Amino acid sequence: MKVIIHGGFFSESATNQETKKAKQQALSDIVIQANEYLKHHTAVETVVYAVSLLEDNELFNAGLGSQIQSDGKVRLSASLMDGKSQCFSGVINIENVKNPIQVAEKLLRYEDRVLSGAGAGDFASKNGFGYFNPVTIQRQLEYEAKLADAGRKGTVGCVALDADGNIAAATSTGGKGFEIPSRVSDSATVAGNFASQFAGISCTGVGEDIVNVALAARIVTRVTDGFSLKDACDKSFAELKQIDGFAGVIGIAANGELYHTDSHPYMVWAAFDGSLQVFN
Ligand code: ASP
Repeated sequence: MKVIIHGGFFSESATNQETKKAKQQALSDIVIQANEYLKHHTAVETVVYAVSLLEDNELFNAGLGSQIQSDGKVRLSASLMDGKSQCFSGVINIENVKNPIQVAEKLLRYEDRVLSGAGAGDFASKNGFGYFNPVTIQRQLEYEAKLADAGRKGTVGCVALDADGNIAAATSTGGKGFEIPSRVSDSATVAGNFASQFAGISCTGVGEDIVNVALAARIVTRVTDGFSLKDACDKSFAELKQIDGFAGVIGIAANGELYHTDSHPYMVWAAFDGSLQVFN
């Protein structure tokens, strides 16, 4: 059993040590809770649990505390992939829900598994997800001051390997901030979140770059074809570099191999691999 989570890239790391420490602490607490949960739950249940906790923490750009789009609205995207059944589900640009990852979880059992915009919102309210406004004072102030800065990120994700050897991945984001309304992020696509019986990957970074190389699906396919997780990531990141792409990932392979980007100083993550590991 293993679990790894990320809190996205964090451009304030260089300047705001206090926020960085708070994020590290939150990630450590959440990965410990996720590890406990994994003892009695499947990989799918665990990644939804961990990502829900991350969405509820306003330090991260997912669920509560998400960034605001250029028209003043918050639109959330989240996805889930069960490596065992090879089923992917997600919501794209959903508004006014607390935990978009839980809506994605609900959709995993449907034939139509990815919904966007108002349709996703209708599905959520019909299925008992109550109205929730994810705007925090902090995000509102940033928006009002027009602190649009492409570096302000903090998507969340989780990959888990359960006691039966099954892998799942989940990713949730408030987007990049100040984007054109309804821009589609990588996070609720197979480029940003993918799993098979062999590996699972959750991405963060510039969504357009991640989509351009289909990063999560590419890495998982390589592991499925026999690469080690590290080799699959190294090769895929070399290809991402050719297009000057910017991304980070966390991943787990079926043999227990864990991976996290370490080439960038600002991606915050935590893993439970027998003992707690935290970075940055
Ligand atoms: N990948 C997300 C997006 O482009 C942002 C992030 O991971 O920070 O919407």
